[in-house]
Amino acid sequence: MSHWFDPQTSLAIDIIKNSKNIIAFCGAGLSTASGIPDFRSPGGLWSQFDPEKYADYNVFLKNPEYYWELERKIGKIFLNAKPNNGHKSLVKLEKKGKLKAIITQNMDNLQQNAGSKIPIIELHGNAQKAYCMDCKKPISRKYINKNLKKSEEIPVCPYCGGRIKTDVVLFNEPLAQDIMKTAIFWAEKCDVMLILGSYLAVYPANQIPLIAKKAGATLIFINNEPTHYDKYATLRMLGKIGSYLPIIVSGV
Ligand SMILES: [Zn+2]
Repeated sequence: MSHWFDPQTSLAIDIIKNSKNIIAFCGAGLSTASGIPDFRSPGGLWSQFDPEKYADYNVFLKNPEYYWELERKIGKIFLNAKPNNGHKSLVKLEKKGKLKAIITQNMDNLQQNAGSKIPIIELHGNAQKAYCMDCKKPISRKYINKNLKKSEEIPVCPYCGGRIKTDVVLFNEPLAQDIMKTAIFWAEKCDVMLILGSYLAVYPANQIPLIAKKAGATLIFINNEPTHYDKYATLRMLGKIGSYLPIIVSGV
């Protein structure tokens, strides 16, 4: 039985059918349907919490209480979020042998929760992981959540009383070089890059699709609004990921 697809969807299906090494590059727009706020959009988190105070690395080193105040406000949202159709479609594309890695700016762990087994390169870290800045031991998210709930104090390391930091990359915190290197490795290797829910506004993460393009990859954009680099797109689909991606993947 043949299905009717609109021309853009048909083109996306054709491109994916003819590809062998797809990489997905994901931004906040992939997780908004799971209830995770898009920090940058008007009315988003950063209009309520000045990121220069609540999410800046240098401020965190001196006054971690601001960061933990933010965590108290949004921690529950992250904790209760479930993967959506976008995350699940990427798992299906992986199972079809097409998708080889995911590079993401999200730190919500939803792609892992959806069941992805391929490498997930997290450019901005992972809010589910944390460590002690003093003794370097990993700290469980469960321990942190419990302490945030029972006391207004900032949580401290259960082993040495030292400072805890989550694995989220804060503003003005340098990206780990090995993570960028791994992202560039996959970008140079892929034949198609799906850019999903990212405005490509944040440097240096936004250079990854350009690196793929330079290495010869076809870029497909699915985003609610135009991005900073739409001119490099072979195909640009304006709208919800949850409306496009499941149909595309089912047609492959
Ligand atoms: Zn410690």
